[in-house]
Parts: sequence; structure tokens; C-alpha cells
Amino acid sequence: MEVKKQIPCLEGWLTMPPQEPQLIGNRCQSCGHYFFPKAKTCRNPLCDKVKPLKDVLLSRKGKLFSYTINHYPPPPPYHAPDPFVPFGVVSIALPEGIKVGGQVPKDVDLDSLKVDTEMETVREVLYIDDQGNEVLSWMFRPAKS
Ligand SMILES: [Zn+2]
Repeated sequence: MEVKKQIPCLEGWLTMPPQEPQLIGNRCQSCGHYFFPKAKTCRNPLCDKVKPLKDVLLSRKGKLFSYTINHYPPPPPYHAPDPFVPFGVVSIALPEGIKVGGQVPKDVDLDSLKVDTEMETVREVLYIDDQGNEVLSWMFRPAKS
């Protein structure tokens, strides 16, 4: 039997097993600003941009800044399940001073989401591709305390 693989939905955006789930961003070595997705050049208008950007792993935990519930299937390349199930979309404020977006896993009660809740980065199966591989994405769920 063919071995099914776990592959990232976007190469180089998140760590893969056996590593803990973490987003991969980058940081300007001149001014210290963080970026996710990774920036090609520093976007801080006050930065002298003398030093390069360096890839960094971002904090696994942050605070729920904002959220919504998506009631319609996003267009391709998003792989919407059929029948479509509404899912939560969140913006997380990380200690690095940036906000990152992501989905909420299906098993999380969307009524439980509250602004300022501590959330953690997890990896979840986004969909199964044509070869049967699990395509993984980062998502955010309320952190275990
Ligand atoms: Zn900079």
C-alpha cells in the first residue's frame, strides 16, 4: 500500500511534524520588525534596511484580536467540503507585534470564541489531495491552560 504523506498547504509557511506547529515568518535585522507571511524587504518606512531579513519561528500563542464566521465556501484554490460547513476565521495578535490570520478547527465551538482569549497555533488537515495525501494548514484554537 502506498504511504500517504503529510504536506504543507504552503511550502515554508509552517513547521511540519515532528516539529511543534509554528508559523515561519521573518524579522528585519535592522529594525526588528516581524512579518508573516514573510516579507521580501522590510516594510517599516522608518527602517534603514541595512541588514537583511532573517527567517524566524513565531510564537505559538497569541491573543484573539478579531474573528468572524465564514458562511460561504471560498472560491478555488480553496478546497471547500461538500456539503459546506461554516468555519471560524480569526486574527491573532502575537507577542511579536503582528497579527496573523487563520482558520479555527472544526471541533471548536465557535460560540466559545471571545476577543482576548489566548489562542495557540495548531496544524490541521485542510483537505485530502488527489493522491490521498493530507494537506496541512496552520489553524488557531483556544489554548489549553
Ligand atoms: Zn526594518
